[in-house]
Amino acid sequence: ALHSHPRLSPAAPFRPETSSAKTLMDVGTRRIFSEDHDLFRESARRFFQEEVVPHHSEWEKAGQVSRELWEKAGEQGLLGVMTPEEQGGIGGDLLSAAVVWEEQMYCNCTGPGFVLHSDIVMPYISNYGNAEQVERFIPPMAAGKCISSIAMTEPGAGSDLQGVRTHAKRDGSDWILNGNKVFISNGRMCDLVVVVTVTDREAKTAAHGISLFLVEDGMKGFQKGRKLDKIGLKAQDTAELFFEDVRLPASALLGELNKGFYYLMNELPQERLLIADMAIASCEFMFEETRNYVMQRKAFEKTIAHLQTVQHKLAEMKTEICVGRAFLDSCLQLHGEKRLDSSTASMAKCWASDLQNKVATQCVQMHGGWGYMMEYPIAKAFVDSRVQPIYGGTNEIMKELIARTIVGTK
Ligand SMILES: Cc1cc2nc3c(=O)[nH]c(=O)nc-3n(C[C@H](O)[C@H](O)[C@H](O)COP(=O)(O)OP(=O)(O)OC[C@H]3O[C@@H](n4cnc5c(N)ncnc54)[C@H](O)[C@@H]3O)c2cc1C
Repeated sequence: ALHSHPRLSPAAPFRPETSSAKTLMDVGTRRIFSEDHDLFRESARRFFQEEVVPHHSEWEKAGQVSRELWEKAGEQGLLGVMTPEEQGGIGGDLLSAAVVWEEQMYCNCTGPGFVLHSDIVMPYISNYGNAEQVERFIPPMAAGKCISSIAMTEPGAGSDLQGVRTHAKRDGSDWILNGNKVFISNGRMCDLVVVVTVTDREAKTAAHGISLFLVEDGMKGFQKGRKLDKIGLKAQDTAELFFEDVRLPASALLGELNKGFYYLMNELPQERLLIADMAIASCEFMFEETRNYVMQRKAFEKTIAHLQTVQHKLAEMKTEICVGRAFLDSCLQLHGEKRLDSSTASMAKCWASDLQNKVATQCVQMHGGWGYMMEYPIAKAFVDSRVQPIYGGTNEIMKELIARTIVGTK
C-alpha cells in the first residue's frame, strides 16, 4: 500500500521551498507562486539589474532617483501591479506585487519609492476615491508620470497618529489646509500627496475627526522642505512638507469626510505586510552576499567558510530566514485571499524587521572590516535595515496591537 500512492506526473513542475533551493533568491521556488509569477520575476529582476543598479550610487549622491526611472518602471508594468485594470492599473494579484517588493530588495537598491507609491498610496485612491479621482490619478500613477506619497507623520505626532494637528477648515465649498508633515517618503519628487488632516476638532474622539485630502504639487501654499539627511536609504527623497493656507476644492477630499482614520486602519496591514516581506527578502539577499564572501575570503590559509563558527552562524541564519519566509509566504497567501488580520500583519512586520537587523549585524561581522565599508553591498544593506523597525508603525506599537488581541485591552 505504501507504494500505491498516485505519483506526481514527471511533467508536474517541482517548486522547492526556499529552504531546499540552491540559493535563497532562486526563481521558480515557493509553492505560493506559479510559473507566470516566475516570468514576471525574471523581467522585474532584469529591470532592477539594468535600470536601477548601474545608477544607484549616483542617485545616492543626489538623494533621489530620476523621474525617467519612474516612467521606465511604468512602461515595464511594475507600478500599480495590484490596481484593477479597469481603473488603469495592471490588474495583477498580490503575489505579483510581492515579486516587485522582493526583487527590489534582492538588488539591494532602496532608492526607488515604487512600493510606497504602488501598494500603499494607490490603494487609497482605488479603494476610496470617486470615479473622477480614479480616472484622473490612477493612469498617470501606473505610468510613473504622477509620483505619490502619503503624509501622516508630523514633527509632534508619529506613533500617536490621533495627535496630528494639520487642519483643514471649511471655506464655502473649499477647504483651507494648514500644517506640516515630516519624514515623508517620495516627499521631494511627489506630484500628489495623500494628507492626513483634522477636519473636526470637536469630534467625540480624535479618530472621528480625521479626513484624507489629495494635495497636488504646485498648489499655492504647498512647499516641500529639504531632503532629510538620513543614515541610510540614501537615494530615497524623504522630506518635510509644509501647507500654508492651501486652498483645496471639495473634490480634493478622498472618500468620506471624517472617515480618514478608519481608512488608515484598513490599509495599514498591507503596509506592514510589505515591510515584512521586504525584510525577509533583504535577509535572503544578505545571506547570499555573505555566503559568497566567506567562501572566497581567506584567513589562516583557508577560506573563512572552513571555520566551524562561521558555518554554524550561517546554519542558524539560514534556519531563521527560512522559518521567517514560511510565515511570510503564509501571510502573503492569506492577504491574497483577503484573510490576513491586522494583528498577524503586525507580528510579521515586527518579527521580520527585527530579524533583518539581526541578520544585517551578523553578516557585517562576517565581512570583517570590509563589512564596514560603504562600497560593500552588505554595509548598505546594514544601514538600510535600521529604519524597518521604525516606520510603518514602530515595533513597540506592533507589540501593542498584537497584545490587544491577546489580553483584549483597548
Ligand atoms: C525613512 C523614513 C521614512 C518614513 N516615511 C514616512 C511616510 O512616507 N509617511 C509618513 O507619514 N511617515 C513616514 N515615516 C514616519 C514613521 O512612520 C514614524 O517615524 C514612526 O511612526 C514613529 O513615529 P515618531 O518618529 O514620531 O516616533 P515616536 O512616536 O515619538 O516614538 C519614539 C519612541 O517611543 C516609542 N513609543 C511611542 N509610543 C509608544 C507606546 N504607546 N508604547 C511603547 N512605545 C512607544 C516608539 O516605539 C519609539 O521607540 C518615515 C520615517 C522614516 C524614518
